Amino acid sequence: MCGYSEMERRSSPSSIIKTLSRALEELSEVEYLKIFNSGSFFDERQIPAGTRAEIYRMLRSRSFRRVQVESRPEFLTEEVLEEAVAEIDAELEVGIGLESASDYVREVFVNKGFSLSEFEDAVRRCREAGVRVKAYLLVKPPFMSEAEAVEDAVESGVTAARLGAERLSYNPVCIHRGTLVERLFLRGEYSPPWLWSVVEVLRRVKGRVRIPVVCHPSGAGTRRGASNCRRCSARVAQAIRRFSATQEMSWIEGLECSCRERWRLELRSEVLAR
Ligand SMILES: [Zn+2]
Repeated sequence: MCGYSEMERRSSPSSIIKTLSRALEELSEVEYLKIFNSGSFFDERQIPAGTRAEIYRMLRSRSFRRVQVESRPEFLTEEVLEEAVAEIDAELEVGIGLESASDYVREVFVNKGFSLSEFEDAVRRCREAGVRVKAYLLVKPPFMSEAEAVEDAVESGVTAARLGAERLSYNPVCIHRGTLVERLFLRGEYSPPWLWSVVEVLRRVKGRVRIPVVCHPSGAGTRRGASNCRRCSARVAQAIRRFSATQEMSWIEGLECSCRERWRLELRSEVLAR
């Protein structure tokens, strides 16, 4: 479902530095900087050690409170983590795409290529180095019913929090070009999740964990993204974003629309059909 394979192209170290330096120049005063490289920040093949050192130097010239990068677990070695903590004059947060806490869902449905125990070890290494972990989780990978997807997303969030993640970020699956999910979607064998499912996941997880739970649904309300009916999609997506910013349950409680009953029926009928 990930659109990265379509745009895989290695940037040269000099273009990475140029891009970042231009972005930092244009940036006003912010506390929280997220460096997004569509991959793993600590993967040598994507960002060589020398380039990383240069990035750390650039970050030190500004006063950020927190810097976030993303990485797969296998690149989060003690060595790179300790170096990053020593070099960055800010709190460091690493986002890891766990996707699901179920090894079966992650391996068979998502084809991610690492196990829950590898995630767990990476979280431990991060915490020992004083680095915070943010877990990315999917809502409705392919080959799952809406009801199964809700249960999987809830359990995954609770598990990630138990293993030491300090922030949960939910990504409802959105259909990107050239992906298997797109093929399934065009054949009528997959549809993105309801926004009601996302609301349900956030509500249930927030009731069980003590850490921030966020979601910024991409493509919400479009045919290729998480949606409800045409009348309420924008309103519910906005409520989800407000909840994410404030962690106030009131934003996602008491939302109503006539399509909510259709969603409930779909959850139930899928369970009965199996
Ligand atoms: Zn509706």
